[in-house]
Amino acid sequence: MGNFFSDNDDLQYYFERGIDWDALVETTEYGYRTKDGFKNVEEAKAFYREVADMVGTLVADEIAPRAAAIDREGAHLENGVAHLPKAMDEVFKQIKGLDLHKLCLPRELGGLNAPMMLYFVNAEMMARADVSTMTHHSFHAGIALALLIFSIQEGSTTFDVEGAAIASTRFAKEIEEIARGDAWGCMDITEPDAGSDMAALRAFAEQDEAGNWHLSGQKIFITSGHGKYHLVIARTETAKASADPMAGLKGLSMFLVKMYEDQPDGTRKNFITIDRLEEKLGHHGSVTAALSFDRAPAQLIGKRGEGFRYMLTLMNNARLGVGFESLGLCETALRAAKDYAAGRRSMGKTIDRHEMIADYIDEMESDCQAIRALAVHGAYHEELAQKIAILQQLAPCGDVETVALEKRARRHRRHARKVTPLLKYLAAEKAVEMSRRALQIHGGSGYTKDYAPERLLRDALVMPIYEGTSQIQALMAMKDALGAIIKKPQKFITKLAQARWRSLSAKDELERRVSKIQFLCLSAQQHLATRTAAQKIRALGDKPVTAWKDELTKNWDPKRDFALAMLHAERLIKLLTDEAVCEIMLAQAKKHPERRAVLARYLERAELRARALHEEITTSGARLLATLHGGEADPETAAG
Ligand SMILES: Cc1cc2nc3c(=O)[nH]c(=O)nc-3n(C[C@H](O)[C@H](O)[C@H](O)COP(=O)(O)OP(=O)(O)OC[C@H]3O[C@@H](n4cnc5c(N)ncnc54)[C@H](O)[C@@H]3O)c2cc1C
Repeated sequence: MGNFFSDNDDLQYYFERGIDWDALVETTEYGYRTKDGFKNVEEAKAFYREVADMVGTLVADEIAPRAAAIDREGAHLENGVAHLPKAMDEVFKQIKGLDLHKLCLPRELGGLNAPMMLYFVNAEMMARADVSTMTHHSFHAGIALALLIFSIQEGSTTFDVEGAAIASTRFAKEIEEIARGDAWGCMDITEPDAGSDMAALRAFAEQDEAGNWHLSGQKIFITSGHGKYHLVIARTETAKASADPMAGLKGLSMFLVKMYEDQPDGTRKNFITIDRLEEKLGHHGSVTAALSFDRAPAQLIGKRGEGFRYMLTLMNNARLGVGFESLGLCETALRAAKDYAAGRRSMGKTIDRHEMIADYIDEMESDCQAIRALAVHGAYHEELAQKIAILQQLAPCGDVETVALEKRARRHRRHARKVTPLLKYLAAEKAVEMSRRALQIHGGSGYTKDYAPERLLRDALVMPIYEGTSQIQALMAMKDALGAIIKKPQKFITKLAQARWRSLSAKDELERRVSKIQFLCLSAQQHLATRTAAQKIRALGDKPVTAWKDELTKNWDPKRDFALAMLHAERLIKLLTDEAVCEIMLAQAKKHPERRAVLARYLERAELRARALHEEITTSGARLLATLHGGEADPETAAG
């Protein structure tokens, strides 16, 4: 009997020591005021441990052995109805039987009230077994929780402060149906002419005279798109001109659209048509549907024009999910590579004794630890930000405590916002790199279907594409980093000076080395910010002096003003990622000395990367920008 929980030392570290369960249990149990809830962290943790251990066995014994069959059969469409592969149906019967769909839903709504962190731990293990299964599983509770959060955000959830419980919520029926495992949902954003560019979305919804909404248009690439509950983003505001904000993101609204309704006579009435299932390179078990909506009845969530804001909440969680999914796949690739290399002999020794292969495997191990560090950190802060928002509604307290909670929530939101694109970027890119390395380590056998790496590589290739491509993550991280400098330049200069000073003076050698990476990262940002500002100041030459103030303080156009930063955004996100990983690992090393070796190994490669990335960002790019935008190359960056 295998167990993907107990056989993973790094995961065990997080579960037993690395995760601050105190804060997660306290908020999940509404400050220990719930009637039927756990009364302390030990009780709760013992339950979570049992669940993780059970899931560890389930995924090792029931899901992993079916992964190849799931891939071979794939999801398919028959008479307009999508079917999962048989092996996956069998797995989902077991998942339903074990009540895993209700794991993180509140008790008041039929759930088991576990923290999302436990879901993510399970998600990593499930993805290690099979990514299609993990993905489809995530569209159960993930959608139910999104419905709950949306309802809280729009104000249609009421709270029983005395009894510390959710008293009523707009989507209770839907959430309970999903909790029972009788339905799931999906997230319908992408259209044939709008993927990364959401401002180009064209599906629209209109209201009839009675005030009912009807949604029309096409959505493509919808994972688990044969689900009952569709969270659909659609245009509700018409624009007079393309420059009108209503033509872009501000004209979008969020809707819940039911795919079907079961009738009392046993028939099923459909409101959405599945046009086709995509034939994909990998993720064969997962349904990826193209859908048509023709005046489908729709329920508006929140207010008109707030769709993009709601979608960001949905996407943040989904991006964390892809982080854990990619991590699970990396873990399988690493283990497959290690097992094969330990058994295969070449030139008198097993190939894991050859230096180059040993280096690959060593880096893969270190990278898995880095991804897990980022993933747990991101999931922790996102969950607390969301749970504190619920706690605020339930807090029988005066203004002082509410203000303190708001401050805490803001801090967690800030951390989650910073780390989520970094995690999505790193984990997805590493999934591709590691599965390719695993294939390479298998030599000719790796290129056959007799071994897992070819499937892992096919499955991995979508990870840098969906839930926002790697390039989009890089742009988001760059805009946040440079935006912060423009907003508070003095704070940035102080941070830069402090990092430099710590890199020279910190007592701890590891802290000095981490500070050096922070310094290189900040100094690369400083280069991009000053070049961006210099460009802007040069452009003032064409404007009257009276317009200068507005140009410098207000009129920033990312497309025009951030060209150099956009060119280097991927290099910058790599630096930001190394910086964040090192900071998290340093904090762990300070608390738990056995983690010093984990950081020291990661630093060996991160330090070299940081120097190279800093050099690239500060010396290249001018030639290409001159070609793209015209004009002469900036002599200071002409090396590019
Ligand atoms: C298997 C699978 C499952 C999916 N599941 C879902 C789902 O459940 N729901 C859903 O709504 N969508 C889903 N998608 C769609 C996915 O999110 C999109 O494919 C993705 O957002 C990219 O959009 P696109 O394909 O239109 O590519 P484009 O947006 O056309 O991008 C093409 C390339 O250009 C790059 N690019 C675009 N803009 C810029 C820029 N400004 N700067 C630099 N580079 C840029 C991109 O990074 C990419 O490399 C899924 C896709 C796949 C393949």
